[in-house]
Amino acid sequence: PVVTRFAPSPTGYLHIGGGRTALFNWLYARGRGGKFLLRIEDTDRERSTPEATEAILQGLRWLGLDWDGEAVSQFERKDRHAEVAHQMLGRGTAYKCFSTQEEIAAYRAAQEAAGASYAVFQSPWRDVAPADYPDLPYVIRMKAPRDGETVIDDQVQGRVVIQNATLDDMIVLRSDGTPTYMLAVVVDDHDMGVTHVIRGDDHLNNAARQQMVYDAMGWDIPVWAHIPLIHGPDGKKLSKRHGATAVGDYQAQGYPAAGMRNYLTRLGWAHGNDEFFTSAQAMEWFDLGGIGRSPARLDFKKLENICGQHIAAADDAALLHELEAYLVAAHRDLLTDAQRDLLSRAMYCVKDRAKTFPELLEKAHFALISRPVVADEAAAAALDTVSRGILKSLTPRLQTGSWTKETLEPILTEIAAAHGIGFGKLAAPLRAALAGRTATPSVYDMMLVIGRDETIARLEDAAG
Ligand code: GLU
Repeated sequence: PVVTRFAPSPTGYLHIGGGRTALFNWLYARGRGGKFLLRIEDTDRERSTPEATEAILQGLRWLGLDWDGEAVSQFERKDRHAEVAHQMLGRGTAYKCFSTQEEIAAYRAAQEAAGASYAVFQSPWRDVAPADYPDLPYVIRMKAPRDGETVIDDQVQGRVVIQNATLDDMIVLRSDGTPTYMLAVVVDDHDMGVTHVIRGDDHLNNAARQQMVYDAMGWDIPVWAHIPLIHGPDGKKLSKRHGATAVGDYQAQGYPAAGMRNYLTRLGWAHGNDEFFTSAQAMEWFDLGGIGRSPARLDFKKLENICGQHIAAADDAALLHELEAYLVAAHRDLLTDAQRDLLSRAMYCVKDRAKTFPELLEKAHFALISRPVVADEAAAAALDTVSRGILKSLTPRLQTGSWTKETLEPILTEIAAAHGIGFGKLAAPLRAALAGRTATPSVYDMMLVIGRDETIARLEDAAG
């Protein structure tokens, strides 16, 4: 069975690159009936904060990336890490090194003086028999192979060859008994039963060292897939100057989660020419072979386009639910019961062509306001004396009859004709009276959503 994981370091917000890494792992596992695990790599006590952990969990939840079981704290597993380091001593694949900082610095200086361009520290303790170890502070180092090469068989990068001469006898356990990152990752992945490691290609070099740890313990090496980082639209490494880099920023800007998920799935992975798809389709289609080898560029236009399609295609009730969550996340005014009711009635005519929730709310403005309607400048100009007279002659005609587009249409057409104006000329003051704006959904849609009484009241207000 497939087991993937996302292993963020809780030192800041959830970056969209991290969000995409989590998404790829989630899709890979979910599409194969596997497990998707979460491990918080909080071993760096100085830089890890509970706030960052919370922000990461929150970002994952928003993206809808549910993980199996409890999130694992790497820090809490430090005794297990130390245990494995000592097991490696027993297996003869690691050794205690008693060299002091000064001795190591002196070694490096001597190497440099001798013209070595790359000084890999070779500890004098590597081949000392444990029986001869002194009773002094020590670190545990891996006994790295000194010649030959290490091959990473990567699903994205292909066959990556690293010369063992460039790998030092890395420390796995510090003198204070704490594990290094390189050891902790491998022990945790092994213990958690991780079969596939899908992560950023900034970790490709680590894979060679981590493979050494697997070998030292006689453990199976997972399938590696190191994915290229995300670049900005200009092809440079993504940074804040390109726009939002935190997953939470996209939530606060009102992008729908399904659209964000769809867009991030497409960022560096392709399935033919498919751009718009559901999560169920993504789970079915996602595979490591579809991941590109070169960095994907963030394209805000495409993101908006995909988000717009998701909003238009969403179920009205689900959309309303997500919109309310957006209001909370963005610290905006929440809906009253009456507004919620009206918005759900308006949904059908406002969800088309809205790329974000703020845009959707903007279109739904007419349904969310209450009297007196405040007209903006352009709307006020549309309510001149002549137009107000026309509105006045319209209101009595709306008092009876059924309230449908089919019955309203002939009435409005007739009123326009009676005043010798086209329908467009009539629509402008109607939009102004009903919404206080000049750009709105269709006049009929607004009238049907707010209903007869409210329509008449707004028209009477505007007619004066
Ligand atoms: N904690 C590492 C990071 O946030 C990821 C380690 C891994 O995926 O192996 O970059």
